[in-house]
Amino acid sequence: MSIAERLQEVRERIARAEARAGRAPGSVRLLAVSKTFPASFAQEAYDAGQRLFGENRLQEALEKIPQLPEDAVWHIIGPLQRNKVRKALEAGVALIEAVDSLRTAETISRIAGELGRTAAILLEVNIDGELSKHGFSPAELMTAWGQLSALAHVEIRGLMCIPAPVENAQLARPAFAALRELAEDLRARGPFPLPVLSMGMSHDFEEAIEEGATEVRVGSYIFGARAYPVDPS
Ligand SMILES: *Cc1c(COP(=O)(O)O)cnc(C)c1O
Repeated sequence: MSIAERLQEVRERIARAEARAGRAPGSVRLLAVSKTFPASFAQEAYDAGQRLFGENRLQEALEKIPQLPEDAVWHIIGPLQRNKVRKALEAGVALIEAVDSLRTAETISRIAGELGRTAAILLEVNIDGELSKHGFSPAELMTAWGQLSALAHVEIRGLMCIPAPVENAQLARPAFAALRELAEDLRARGPFPLPVLSMGMSHDFEEAIEEGATEVRVGSYIFGARAYPVDPS
């Protein structure tokens, strides 16, 4: 199947999952994760109507951004080192998804302020408590929320997670549900409406949608198997 056909299939599966979950049509956006694939693959998806792209590494994003039309929108979904924040913001990255510490959020706020703007971020949550993983634990996030939400130049749009790989996507549901509930708790504390729940990948995006995802990050299902693995954590 071509990239365009795969994309079409993913869109249809998203629409069906929205319907099953009683979610509004179009309430879930598809982030096409083009990491490790050449810009020409992303361009093929663009030509099939895709506008939203995700890259794990800033360096790779910086190479591809100028190769695609300007209305392509880019998210960084991997850990962003603090010394790369300025480059990411200057390159027009629309959303930094995997912010996993107060320090990183503070750096983003400071640099966004220097650039005279606000930066949109998601906070990555280590929702299933794996020791090896990045992300705030839910308890840490509750503790840090006061400081995070007071940052002057950061707009926290929502939460993201990468649950531990499981054999059956059904087993990821509790983690997805936990992220949704955590977002509800934080929404109640204010001040951000936290519209974005970024969760679900090629193997489990439908389950994620049924549990409340508003953005799914799909790579290999659209673009094929990656030639070299990239640790998504
Ligand atoms: C690679 C990656 C994805 C996409 O994974 P697929 O299994 O290829 O769909 C999603 N999210 C993150 C954070 C990733 O690093």
